[in-house]
Amino acid sequence: MSAAKAEKHSVYQNVIRQFNNAADIMKLDPDVRSILSKTTNEIIVNFPVKMDDGRVEMFTGYRVQHNNALGPYKGGLRFHPNVNIDEVRALATWMTWKSAIADIPYGGAKGGIQIDPSKYSQAELERISRRFAYALGSNIGPEYDIPAPDVNTNGQIMAWILDTFQSTVPPQMRHASVHVVTGKPIEAGGSVGRNKATGQGVCFCIEQWAKDHNFDLSKATFIVQGYGNVGSWSAKLVARHGAKLIAVQDHTGTIYSKNGIDAEKLADYVAEKRGVAGFPGTEKIDDKDFLSIEADIFIPAALEGQLTEETTGKLKVKLVAEGANGPTDVNGDKILKEKGIDLIPDVLCNSGGVIVSYFEWLQNKRSEFWDLEEVDSKLYKKIIAGYQRVKAAAEKYNVDWRTAAYIVALARLEIVFKERGIFP
Ligand code: NAD
Repeated sequence: MSAAKAEKHSVYQNVIRQFNNAADIMKLDPDVRSILSKTTNEIIVNFPVKMDDGRVEMFTGYRVQHNNALGPYKGGLRFHPNVNIDEVRALATWMTWKSAIADIPYGGAKGGIQIDPSKYSQAELERISRRFAYALGSNIGPEYDIPAPDVNTNGQIMAWILDTFQSTVPPQMRHASVHVVTGKPIEAGGSVGRNKATGQGVCFCIEQWAKDHNFDLSKATFIVQGYGNVGSWSAKLVARHGAKLIAVQDHTGTIYSKNGIDAEKLADYVAEKRGVAGFPGTEKIDDKDFLSIEADIFIPAALEGQLTEETTGKLKVKLVAEGANGPTDVNGDKILKEKGIDLIPDVLCNSGGVIVSYFEWLQNKRSEFWDLEEVDSKLYKKIIAGYQRVKAAAEKYNVDWRTAAYIVALARLEIVFKERGIFP
């Protein structure tokens, strides 16, 4: 691949272009710019795991810690064949911006294993997750770097990582490390409302956008890409406003119904069949026609790099609300602007997950259990405050919402670096 082509496909280069654009506009201090344009630590671990048939397989895992000026490193773990150092760098950097915009005391990190989890048994996945946690060792920790679920990982995997981590610390320290991961099952120290938190945050942002635009959500139509944790919760919650879900795409195909798709029943179906293909009452359409479907709102909730120079022109929607991380690249952003499509960028729109992870972490540290009403109302306040900060920056600097979100994050980090200075 030529250097230019490699750059085009580099998710991290895309982040750096977004970052430089915002840094130029807000005139970010050059020293802070050079610090934030690099990741702090990049950990790559290769580790062996015994398979069910007795063979040993080697796996490669990553943890990239971008920055911890605002608090411990924080970010999800992804199990996917496309996981690589470039992608993890990008995802870690987005976490730093996300925590800063949400005004929570965290830095940014991300990790994962290059693996197709559907090819392994549950017992193998447990051993892979535990061995990965063991290989990471003290590179993660409850006051240092706190993983959470992401693509193809869930509460069960977090529980295995927690148990492995706790097994490696002295017995007196075990309870004190229950907040080493968030997104745990409730019984293992998780928070109510964490499972739906990212989708809930997406929905709160869409509600606020509708209010700002005098737009009646009960008459809206919407399409969703990805029907895992983020996609399915976003769809179920937006549908509760009366909005009609008309198309869904995931790794098994694309389904469409102009009469509307029952978001709740589809979630049950996906839990059983592992994909949306074949959902009764819908027609299968060609994957490449998905983005051309006319609707009011598009919620990307799968992987990055979906809205590019080649694809964004197809969109016939009023709003893109990014549930996924990095679904739009810089060329896609330009086209959204030209077409007058509103954008609620990932670092704001999907921040509900890390916000409720923060609530889980706080509850663990204080041995408290909040009820759903408390979690949801605190989430609402935090994410809408972030929304208003981004909106105000977009107006002040006359920029698109992604650039505005970056400006909010960078301004907060700039203050901290200036106050604290650089050691020594
Ligand atoms: P998930 O594993 O629960 O679901 C992923 C979904 O993406 C699945 O429906 C899968 O079929 C779909 N998908 C995979 N490849 C696809 C393809 N080529 N085309 C169409 N669909 C495809 O993952 P998730 O936790 O819902 O994460 C989804 C996105 O949201 C990711 O970008 C993730 O980083 C981001 N995110 C997740 C959280 C969280 O709390 N889980 C928080 C913030 C952001």
